[in-house]
Amino acid sequence: MASPEAEKIPRNFITDIIDEDLKNGTVTQVATRFPPEPNGYLHIGHAKSICLNFGLARDYHGTCNLRFDDTNPVKEDMEYINSIQRDVKWLGFEWNGEVRHSSDYFDRLFNYALELIDKGLAYVDELSPDEIREYRGTLKEPGKESPYRNRSIEENRTLFLKMRDGGYKEGEACLRAKIDMASPFICMRDPVIYRVRYATHALTGDKWCIYPMYDFTHCISDAIEHITHSICTLEFQDNRRLYDWVLEHISIDARPHQYEMSRLNLEYSITSKRKLNLLVTEGYVDGWDDPRLTTLSGLRRRGYTPESIREFCRRIGVTKQENTVEMSALESCVREDLNARAPRAMAVLHPLRLVIDNYGEEGVTETSFKVPNHADQPEMGEREVSFSGELFIDEADFREEANKQYKRLKLGSEVRLRHSYIIKAVSCEKDETGKVTCVHAEAVPFSAGRDVDGHKPKGVIHYVDAKNCYRGEVRLYGRLFKVANPGAEEDFLSTVDRDSLTVIKDAALEKSLQSAVAPAHYQFEREGYFCVDSKDSKEGAPVFNLTVALREAKKAAV
Ligand code: ATP
Ligand code: MG
Repeated sequence: MASPEAEKIPRNFITDIIDEDLKNGTVTQVATRFPPEPNGYLHIGHAKSICLNFGLARDYHGTCNLRFDDTNPVKEDMEYINSIQRDVKWLGFEWNGEVRHSSDYFDRLFNYALELIDKGLAYVDELSPDEIREYRGTLKEPGKESPYRNRSIEENRTLFLKMRDGGYKEGEACLRAKIDMASPFICMRDPVIYRVRYATHALTGDKWCIYPMYDFTHCISDAIEHITHSICTLEFQDNRRLYDWVLEHISIDARPHQYEMSRLNLEYSITSKRKLNLLVTEGYVDGWDDPRLTTLSGLRRRGYTPESIREFCRRIGVTKQENTVEMSALESCVREDLNARAPRAMAVLHPLRLVIDNYGEEGVTETSFKVPNHADQPEMGEREVSFSGELFIDEADFREEANKQYKRLKLGSEVRLRHSYIIKAVSCEKDETGKVTCVHAEAVPFSAGRDVDGHKPKGVIHYVDAKNCYRGEVRLYGRLFKVANPGAEEDFLSTVDRDSLTVIKDAALEKSLQSAVAPAHYQFEREGYFCVDSKDSKEGAPVFNLTVALREAKKAAV
């Protein structure tokens, strides 16, 4: 859809910084990175970061690396590593060169730690994790120095090697940067930079039993890769001091800079991998790609297009103000995209039998209609829609009696069947509970696709040929959470709406839909945008997922 020019990132405070850096020559080529921790699937918040980092590289003819921040072997997994690469590609971006990992730099990171020790800027601390926390102080009180803080360089070297060689149990020792226990920034009060962990790492296996901490690893990895602009979210604002401190005190030639932007918070959605993980493992949803989740794999399965997500990220912009974006902002992006390019089709979600009593008589004999796939896009072609004397219409499109506002079918009045005849309902059959089971109608002869004098139906309803259709499964999705900000709830799981999925087992869909395969998208006329479910569909038996309703508000009576 959009041209590269139309996709350009709108000006923001980061593009201002880059423009300035390029102008005064501190940077000659922009280099960014997207650094996910492989401890879950990517979500819509990550899309903001991906679109920004890869988008800057595109707009400034620079590069963007994909780097797995894999310093925590306990939570990381190959499944996540694979899904993240797939999602970045699906969003339409290509990283520069090979995929990188913080773990690729473990040897170098270890040597930089030794360098800090040799400069008297790091020490092995044998306080317990609880004591370290206690000694750290608070925002109001300065921290207290560890009794191990003033060990000699030689002793620190020996003990750090002992850490590496398995001489300590977890929690018995760690390496700390020696900075300032009285700093107003708690992250500068001798932060831990290495800890002992006996865990098998997804890539380095059992080679290491000590792992570097995020703050130490990230800045050095950025410098090794010659990143120029290292963009993260606002919660790392204070940590920028530590980022700069580490790079100032080691021998490395590149000096990346960190810039912080606000996170994307989206209504009715969770953007925390830890919480998403709970929803998945506790069985609240059907996996990380459940179409009700705003993970990228969930959105994909729901029918969101990469273009619509990129457009959403472009519209929300990049600032330092914390805010929460309405779900309707995301929905309108996919609606606009699919409106332009999804072929139209007819599907009756709650089928009610409609018999045309005069079918077969003169002027009411058509067996199919040629119908455009998209009224505004003739190049999308036409298809044959089957017709007979027995149709399905939607239960909601018929009432025995109704007031003038009701423009659909009621006894004694006329509507047009989409692309087809004008019909008038003459009677209906009911079951013992009073539910209407069949409507009888008469078609106006020769009215198929054209006006007939004396007949001016107010409404149009859609139908499917009951004798020649596909009876398949359609899934409708509501919001997964009952509250707009589930992340703020103490027990967010209690806000899950257990009725957010409606499965319609035997919707009546026009025959052409039977051969649909994922990731096809359709507009089911008068219903909404739907896509073929990529997981549960079988050849000749597609399952359809509701992507988004046709309009934002509740469907008004048509
Ligand atoms: P989570 O809480 O979901 O684990 P995270 O920030 O720990 O989030 P990472 O995998 O470390 O997740 O994030 C990779 C990149 O994506 C980081 O640069 C991070 O700042 C960015 N990011 C994560 N969540 C958001 C968000 N909601 N909005 C914008 N950027 C985000
Ligand atoms: Mg993280």
